[in-house]
Formats: sequence, C-alpha cells, structure tokens
Amino acid sequence: MQLVRQKEKSAMKWHRSGTVVLAALLAAAVASGCAAETGGGGAGASGGPAKPAAGQPGEAAPKAGPARALDTYAEALGKKQAARAVAARKWGLAKTPLAAPEPPEAKPRITTRKGFEVRDDAGLPPVFTTVPTKEKIVFLTMDDGAEKDPELLRMMTELDIPYSAFLSDYVTNDDYGYFKKMQRRGVTISNHTLNHRYLPGLSHAEQKREICGQQEKILKHYGKRPTLFRPPYGNYNRDTLVVAKSCGITAVPLWSSEAFPDRMEWREWDRDLHPGDIVLTHFRGEEDWKGSMPDMIRRVMKTITDKGYAVAKLEDYV
Ligand SMILES: [Zn+2]
Repeated sequence: MQLVRQKEKSAMKWHRSGTVVLAALLAAAVASGCAAETGGGGAGASGGPAKPAAGQPGEAAPKAGPARALDTYAEALGKKQAARAVAARKWGLAKTPLAAPEPPEAKPRITTRKGFEVRDDAGLPPVFTTVPTKEKIVFLTMDDGAEKDPELLRMMTELDIPYSAFLSDYVTNDDYGYFKKMQRRGVTISNHTLNHRYLPGLSHAEQKREICGQQEKILKHYGKRPTLFRPPYGNYNRDTLVVAKSCGITAVPLWSSEAFPDRMEWREWDRDLHPGDIVLTHFRGEEDWKGSMPDMIRRVMKTITDKGYAVAKLEDYV
C-alpha cells in the first residue's frame, strides 16, 4: 500500500511540475502569439496550483517520452491560445479569455452547500453553488433556451469557451435542432424541467413529471439522459431531490453569480468571483434584456478575465 501511495505521490509531483513547465511555455507562446494584446495570456500561468514540488528526488528515467509529449501539448495549447486571441479581437472582447488548466484526473467530491440542505439528505444529489477547487476557474451555465442565436454558437466555438446548457422543454421544443448543433460543438445538455414551474409548489407526482419527463425528452432528442439538474429559480424541496435521483440525476448545480449584458448579480456578500464558482446566465434576446447573447458574453468574459479567471468545463469537475 505504501508503495502505491508513493507512486501516486510522485505521479502527482510530475503532473504538477509539468503544469509549471506548461504554464511557462504557454505564457511564452501567448506573449509571442498575440502581438497587439497584452492583458490576455500571462495571467493563465498564475491560475494553476503552480508550485514546483520541492527537491524532487529520482524520477530521472522516464523523462524523454513524457517531456516531449508535454512540449507538443504545450505547443498545441499555445496555438490554441493564439487562435483564441484572434477570435477575441473578432468578437470584440476586451481581453483574450485565459486558458483553463487541465481538468483533474479525478472529479472532486461535492457536498451540499451549508444552508442548502433538505432533511435526511444522505444519498441525495448534492446542491451547490461552487465546485471545490483551488484553480482560478469558473463555470458558465446557460438556462431555459428561449433565445436561439446562431451567433452564440459561432462565437463560443471560435473563442473555445466551454459552457453548459440547462434546458426547459417548453421554450426549446420549437427548435431542438439548435441545441443539437450546440451539443455537437461539445456542450452538455442538462435538465431544467419540462415547463419551468415552481417545484416546491408541486406534488411529488407533478415534480416527477416535470423532472423525469424532461430526462426522457432530452434522451429522445439529444441521445443522452442528463446527470445534472437545475431547478427553476433555484427552488426545490426534498421531493425534488428524491425524484431527480430516481431518474438518474447525480448533482444539482445552482449558481453563485448571474450574468446579464449590462451587469453581474452576486450571491455572495463580497460581490466577487471565487475558485470554482458557477456563473448563471440565460438564453435571452434583445427583447428580454438590454443586449444580445454576444453582448452578454462580452460583458461576463470581461468580468471573468479581468479578475484573472479562466472558464472551465463543468462536466470535467462534476
Ligand atoms: Zn430557468
């Protein structure tokens, strides 16, 4: 057992020092890659756990292979970040979005946020607003699905910013194809109920129809039953979690801040981002709020990047 633990430890060290090398290479690549722009690249390097493990003993033998692989990986990342800088200028972002660190090998253990518990919640899906991590990353999540702006698909793909969609059937059933395209671009489709009702006001059976009914809709139209569920308005009771679990939900991510085209709204008293925060926004158009989906993205990405955060993929962590 001791041996195994040792091995894990050195693997982690290797991984961590690899991150440092990577970060340095990446920063260099970005600095040379995007001429006009400054604010973008470097800060990504400070995002990681980035502390060289002190006095790494031994481990000399298997260097060449992994090191070379790492170089190639760093090169690829550098190119990716240079392309992102070009896209950022094209789409009018104030700064180039920072590169997220590699996802963890194992997902963190997530528990229900204090104050968000229901009675007897052992075994029920956790309800949380922030994912436990030390990385300077946040997660972007978009709800409902009323607005179906093709510009958003292009923009997010070119910027290579991950996000997650929590869909309600009643606003998406006029165009499943739009979200199918989104899914093909790597976005995970998650559950936000059939009709966006206030769930604590519904019976167990009605909640089952709202939540599990949407599980089946998503399975039918997108080929996969979700594991993530977000209750409308963030309102739920014990029945909600029992029902959600019964049809395959394993986690209930809420949010710690909400993005609009003209502002952010904060859940926390310090009105700030924190590592692992989940950011909520909506598929809405000019008639619903003061701006387009790209306007909203420009605004939220300015906040995120200015504060030194990168956007990571929620499903890599949850
Ligand atoms: Zn909603």
